[in-house]
Order: sequence, then structure tokens, then C-alpha cells
Amino acid sequence: MQWMLESFDTLISTWLQANLLAALLVAIAVHCLIYLLGGGIGILLTEKLMPALGIGRPLDQRPAKPGQLQREIRNGLIACLILGLASLSYRRLCDGIWPESWLQAAFQISSFVVFNNIYSYATHRLLHTRALSRFHRVHHLSVRVTPYSSYSVHPIEAMIIAGTLPLFMLLIPLGLGTALVLHAVGMVYTTCIHCNYDLMPSLGDHHWLKKLINHPTYHRFHHTLGNVNYGFTNRLLDLLFKTSKG
Ligand SMILES: [Zn+2]
Ligand SMILES: [Zn+2]
Repeated sequence: MQWMLESFDTLISTWLQANLLAALLVAIAVHCLIYLLGGGIGILLTEKLMPALGIGRPLDQRPAKPGQLQREIRNGLIACLILGLASLSYRRLCDGIWPESWLQAAFQISSFVVFNNIYSYATHRLLHTRALSRFHRVHHLSVRVTPYSSYSVHPIEAMIIAGTLPLFMLLIPLGLGTALVLHAVGMVYTTCIHCNYDLMPSLGDHHWLKKLINHPTYHRFHHTLGNVNYGFTNRLLDLLFKTSKG
């Protein structure tokens, strides 16, 4: 475990000191890798392994439309390019690599979770207004979602997503390691809520956990109905603004 942390530290420090072009190429490659690998693993798990093992259940039984995966991956890779570009700003905005204490880490992470949910909810609501909906239509082309729908977005929406961490870091500087981990966890979470698979059917739709967090069934309603369930990791703001369904 120790050697893994030390290797991760070395990688981050190297990226921090690398020249701009090398850092950019690495950032884009890592984003593409997380996106492609995450989507591939998601499809393998939800379409092969988990059904075979009797774990969970598929949500929308229809297959993806012809050409849908190709379209989503094409959009997703452009989004990864934008996300990679934006992540270069972490190098300027960061404060060291890790927080100085567990207390500081808890404060930074909880503040970011609150900020991210408010920012995501607000920008998502804005993207559903008449003026901006053309930039969000790309994401809603996927009605029967796949793990690759996660970053199948218009470049403008990708820029809005990419702005989350830099904007937060202007308010509360994060260690570079913390920023990268939070960003990677966000990417994985986004992939999970688009996996078209009920991961916890045994809990029942009225279980408190399913009523609190955003999960694939909840986000699927957003893709099928459009004007509900805007939240990112939880449904608190949806409940507050009466946009929660399911
Ligand atoms: Zn939407
Ligand atoms: Zn979505």
C-alpha cells in the first residue's frame, strides 16, 4: 500500500513539473483511458457478468440504438480533450499535493461535495432553459443510456463540467492529489449513474439510501422524462426545488 501511495506521489510530482505539452498529452490520455476503460468495464459488468451472476437487474431492456455507442464515444473523447485541457489549471491552482491533516482533508472534501452538487444542479437547470438547451441536447440523445452516455455531451457542456474543480479551487485551494482523486471519482460516479442497471434492487425503491443518493434508476428518469432529477450525487436539491421523481 505504501509503495502504491509513493508511486502515485511520484507520478503527480512528475506531472506537476512536466512541460506544458507533455502535461497536456498525459492529461488527455488519462481522461480518455478512464472514460474508455470505465465505459467498457461498465458494459462488461452490466451486460455480461452481473446478469450471469444474478446480481442486480437491467433497467431499459431495449438495446442501444444502431450507431449510438460510436456517437457517444466520439462525443466523450472530445469531452475528454476539454477535460484534460482544463485539468492543467489544477497545476497552477493547487496547494501542494495532499492536505496537511485529516481534518483539512475532511473539510476540503465535504466543501467540494456541497459545491459540486450546487454547481451541477444549477448549471444543469440552466442547460434545460430554452436559451441553452441546444448545448444539452447532445446528452439527451441517449434516452436508453449506456456507460458511455456519461460524457456524451456538447463541447460547451464539457467546458461547464470542466470548470467545476478550477472554480472551486479559486475559493478553496486543494492539494493536486486531492483534486485528481476527486475528479477521477466524479468520472467514475458519472459513468455509474449511466449504466442502465439497478445495482441495488434488493433495497427496494423506497429504501432511504435510494431516496437520498442519485443512482442509475433515478438518473434514468432524467433521460426519459427530461425535466426532473437534475442532481449529481444526491437528490437533496431536487427535493428542495421539487424536481425529484422516482
Ligand atoms: Zn439534462
Ligand atoms: Zn445523464
